[in-house]
Amino acid sequence: MRAILTLNAGSSSLKLGLFSETLETLGFGHVDRIGGQGALRVVDGAGQTLPIPDTRPEDFETHAKALATALAAFHAGFPGLEVIAVGHRVVHGGIDHAAPERITDDLMAELAKLAPFAPLHQPHNLAGVRAALDAFPDAPQIACFDTAFHRNHPFVNDTFALPRRFYEKGVRRYGFHGLSYDYISGELATTEPKLHAGRVVVAHLGSGASMCGLQGGQSIASTMGFSALDGLPMGTRSGQLDPGVLLYLMDQEGMSSGEISDLLYKESGLKGMSGLSNDMRELEASDDPHAAEAIDYFTFRIRRELGALAAALGGLDALVFCGGIGENSAHIRARVCEGMGWIGITLDAGKNAANARHISIGPVEVMVIPTNEELVIARAAHAVLSP
Ligand code: ADP
Repeated sequence: MRAILTLNAGSSSLKLGLFSETLETLGFGHVDRIGGQGALRVVDGAGQTLPIPDTRPEDFETHAKALATALAAFHAGFPGLEVIAVGHRVVHGGIDHAAPERITDDLMAELAKLAPFAPLHQPHNLAGVRAALDAFPDAPQIACFDTAFHRNHPFVNDTFALPRRFYEKGVRRYGFHGLSYDYISGELATTEPKLHAGRVVVAHLGSGASMCGLQGGQSIASTMGFSALDGLPMGTRSGQLDPGVLLYLMDQEGMSSGEISDLLYKESGLKGMSGLSNDMRELEASDDPHAAEAIDYFTFRIRRELGALAAALGGLDALVFCGGIGENSAHIRARVCEGMGWIGITLDAGKNAANARHISIGPVEVMVIPTNEELVIARAAHAVLSP
């Protein structure tokens, strides 16, 4: 069985996708806790869990070992598997990369230089690429950048009001979650061409969360900026913060950059505000007032950004929810859309509760579209195979 493999390597996780030559989904693999008590789950294209060979903790010691373990499980679950191309999610493509690219030594060297722009993600992404280059030295490998979809946004959404030299050095608003927005834009182009041609806000609400304004299917603004910390509060990330807070943390609290990084990436957001959990399901089920306040702040920021993005777009034709929370939480969608009649949003409560694709009464169309970043990566790899 000839197949395209997609890889999404995080700090301690590895997500794998397997697609046929005609881009049908064959299966997914998910490795958690690399470097610790690693665990692997493999499902087929219908989402059924497949049995996997026995594993030992040392099978998950590094990204390379985790990849080898997951591939052994894929070979057991998909007899005759032959990987013909590998597509990779790479968080940062810098200023110059606005489209997927075939991986070469030169590109790897260039991407490694971008690690300071995304120190918590880029090195792990590239560790995944190196592991795959070793495992499949003859298969073409393609890098797909989370920043690429936003690279053509206008200057006012690309810059900060700092002296010009910082812009030249790459201190810019990159925007992330681009693979997800690319997928949603493509879905709208095929199924809702009128909306695709218009003004759409997409809310990608998962553990990481951001929103993007699309005009004619192109990103013109995003809530994420220089890093994946900006904009909305997230599971454990703060979202937008007054830069004066950073000065205070350094000067008055004596915190180092490493401590501040841990605080903003790992201890803030829903987890920090609630003191309970980064998991929206737990917060929704809790009667703790701090959990309620965390949800209040989350939805308040989404509503605020919705207004801001609609202004940037010059109006609104559609709002699309995606990501784990956006696709599954009728409660959060209802809270976001409450009292939004002034902008043209009125939800159909029954359709919202049913997680239907179209959930509004109008005139602004509100939709729930499950995102599929792996498919966007697989398509890019496919395009390299059959240009
Ligand atoms: P990641 O960014 O890791 O891919 P996901 O897109 O899977 O994250 O989203 C994870 C988030 O989705 C978690 O906060 C989880 O609680 C939330 N979530 C998943 N299902 C539901 C649900 N039915 N109701 C509310 N939140 C949900």
